[in-house]
Amino acid sequence: MTNENKSPQDTCINKDDTITLPLLPLRNIFVFPSTIIPLFVGREKSVKALEDAMKKNKQIILCSQKDPRLTDPEAKDIHNFGVIANILQILKLPDKTIKVLIEGQNRALIKNFKETDRFYLVEAKVLDEQRKINEESEALLRALKSSFENYVRLNKKIPPEIIVSIAQITDPAKLCDTIVIQLPNLRTEDKQNLLEELDVNKRIEKVYQLILSESEVIRTEKKIRARVKQQMEKTQKEYYLHEQMTAIQKELGSKDDISEIQEFENKIKSQNMPKEVSTKVEKEIKKLKSSSPMSAEAGVIRNYVETVISLPWQKFTKDNTSLEHAEKTLEKDHFGLTKIKERILEYLSVKHIIDEIRGPILCLVGPPGVGKTSLAKSIAKCLNRKFVKISLGGVKDQSEIRGHRKTYIGSMPGKIMHALKKADSSNPVILLDEIDKVGMDHRGDPTAALLEVLDPEQNTKFNDHYLDIDYDLSKCLFIATANNSDIISKPLLDRTELVRISGYTENEKFEISKRYLIPKQLKLNGFTNKNIKIEDKAITDIIRHYTREAGVRNLEKEIASIFRKIARQRLLKYKTKNKKQKNDSKEVFQKKLLSFTETITQKSIELYLGSHYFFNHNKNKKSQIGICTGLAWTPYGGDLLSTEVVILPGQGKLLTTGKLGDTMQESAQAAMSYVRSRAGFLGLEKDFYQKIDIHIHVPEGAIPKDGPSAGLCMATALISALTKRSVNRDVAMTGEITLTGRALPIGGLKEKTLAAHRGGIKKVLFPKENIKDLEDIPESIKKSIKIIAVSHMDEVLLHTLIWKNITNKKTKDELYHKLMKKSDSNSIFLQ
Ligand code: ADP
Repeated sequence: MTNENKSPQDTCINKDDTITLPLLPLRNIFVFPSTIIPLFVGREKSVKALEDAMKKNKQIILCSQKDPRLTDPEAKDIHNFGVIANILQILKLPDKTIKVLIEGQNRALIKNFKETDRFYLVEAKVLDEQRKINEESEALLRALKSSFENYVRLNKKIPPEIIVSIAQITDPAKLCDTIVIQLPNLRTEDKQNLLEELDVNKRIEKVYQLILSESEVIRTEKKIRARVKQQMEKTQKEYYLHEQMTAIQKELGSKDDISEIQEFENKIKSQNMPKEVSTKVEKEIKKLKSSSPMSAEAGVIRNYVETVISLPWQKFTKDNTSLEHAEKTLEKDHFGLTKIKERILEYLSVKHIIDEIRGPILCLVGPPGVGKTSLAKSIAKCLNRKFVKISLGGVKDQSEIRGHRKTYIGSMPGKIMHALKKADSSNPVILLDEIDKVGMDHRGDPTAALLEVLDPEQNTKFNDHYLDIDYDLSKCLFIATANNSDIISKPLLDRTELVRISGYTENEKFEISKRYLIPKQLKLNGFTNKNIKIEDKAITDIIRHYTREAGVRNLEKEIASIFRKIARQRLLKYKTKNKKQKNDSKEVFQKKLLSFTETITQKSIELYLGSHYFFNHNKNKKSQIGICTGLAWTPYGGDLLSTEVVILPGQGKLLTTGKLGDTMQESAQAAMSYVRSRAGFLGLEKDFYQKIDIHIHVPEGAIPKDGPSAGLCMATALISALTKRSVNRDVAMTGEITLTGRALPIGGLKEKTLAAHRGGIKKVLFPKENIKDLEDIPESIKKSIKIIAVSHMDEVLLHTLIWKNITNKKTKDELYHKLMKKSDSNSIFLQ
């Protein structure tokens, strides 16, 4: 490009098709042929160029600046490809700028820039457009039109009328140029490129491509916008809903909360809590106020506060200190148990004198159903205190006693605090039931916690892990129960004073059921003593044939079962009688239903309870060879335990079966050695054992058995089997044996004797060293069975082996006299 020096006036078309015109450089605006556009012109040079054009043929050449930011572009800054335009209208605005309406005419290529001192004058060549219309260009044209239509539909900024005016344009070049100016987002390079494209077909193709890509951009834009909008709407909606929800929750919750918190605060005020407790709870309430009501934390705090508030802080019942009242209550609630009642009264006397018992606590030991729990309840009644029971059976985790720390989810206070809450008093009688069943595992030893509870030095400040506040337990009266004192842990045992309740005799059971259990169950089942009467013989039958226990729990159950069955029968009868009648009122119904009297006899008992479960030990059983009845002690009372011995041909083996523990195995061996050592005396060959095998079996093989009291029984069964003399079925015995045949002492004589009595035994043999225990045995039992103290196995033989089977008269006499002599001097016969 060269700037030749030509006069600005020189605007005519030259011979070589060039035309000289003033130049108007455009910034960011493109003018295409066949388009009319208003322009605002402000730059001095441009105004001058316009003025110059107006003076001549109103034509001007419009070219884009390469860089629109330049205000005073030089020739090199201006594209040399432009459009010749006619000025249609010109309007001077007050701010000295000019609004000009121009119409593009032809594409032109600037050949030469001539800079006048006022504006550029250029020499430009008017360009011809190549318009070869063929099939392809026709197709392109149609595609262009339809794509433009689509584009207009997509782009809402373009007025849709434009489609109509475009449809009327037939000239492809004009069509292209008209479309291009409707594409506002085209880049300047693209526009310039389109301006410079002289081949119309190529231009159509380019425009078509640009429209497609523009349309795609708009579509993508739309998609993005829709997505963003959706997302925004969703988050906005969620945000809005969430806000609403919290507002509603706050509105609702806060009201509840306020009333709840108010309630908490009122309770704290109304309670006589120690200062440190109220301070701690108030602190928690403060936390509760500031936390969101639905939060997990609020739940934890609420539970905690509720628990603390629900405890009977410094709330005590007033003790009834009257010993007469206590005596009457105990007497009224329990039959017999004289010694135990006395012990309880002594205990209460001490308590009344010193107010607090710092000595060991009472532990009632005995089989189930002997009244341990109900005695403890009576003690509470004597003192006019509340009663609560804590079951310790199977407790292995010390947190069960002491609570879990509040930090654990679902943590709770321990059993002690629960009991106090239930009692609603800080000085209740707390029954620690089954302390012998407290276990121990990796979660800590519950006995340690129990010891703390029972220790007067420590229990004024018992710290439950959940509450984390000290509670004074010193005013509580603890009573424990156990079935088996042997397995109570040593430290706990040290803190307790054992009071044994061994079980009841048949007579006692009879009296208990008549005086207590039957009236109690009548009441519980809605009857009176006018409705149901149980004959004495029937009661004895229930005791003998439907229960076999030391206590009276099953007896009570059987009685209850009879009453339930009667209740059902009465109801059925009432229903069949009143089938057609309308429903009676409650009073009439009860009156009708209870207008009966039924007497339960020994005969009718089977109708209610079915056939007898238990039979007298001796019923239909004869004395037999090799079977001897022993007496055993179990935590559930005494029991009869047979030992059977058979002799088999063999080589001297001793076989024991019946799940015998080590001690019983050893008893069997000791018995065997004793028999061998007494072979001559018993009329056995010296080597009798070499040709035989001996099998000792203790039936009910599924139950493990052990204990040091079966020796005498085993030896008796053994001798019976070896000498072929039957053992008196009416005799039962207990005692260990030494190798020389001495009888060693045993435990639980009372329980065993009671069991023997229950089992219909007539004579009980026991080791002489246990004579001191005889005083525990009820007189009624002493009267009904012979209780004989023995010091040696020989005496046992005297009482057990039936002599008529001995053929050798000499041996029989010798033995008999010898033993009789011995027993006269050593044994005690009690009639
Ligand atoms: P334990 O706690 O020893 O297992 P319970 O105290 O539960 O036994 O007694 C079982 C039932 O027997 C209770 O209804 C109780 O009142 C009753 N009972 C036990 N012994 C006597 C008794 N000597 N006098 C009256 N009722 C008794």
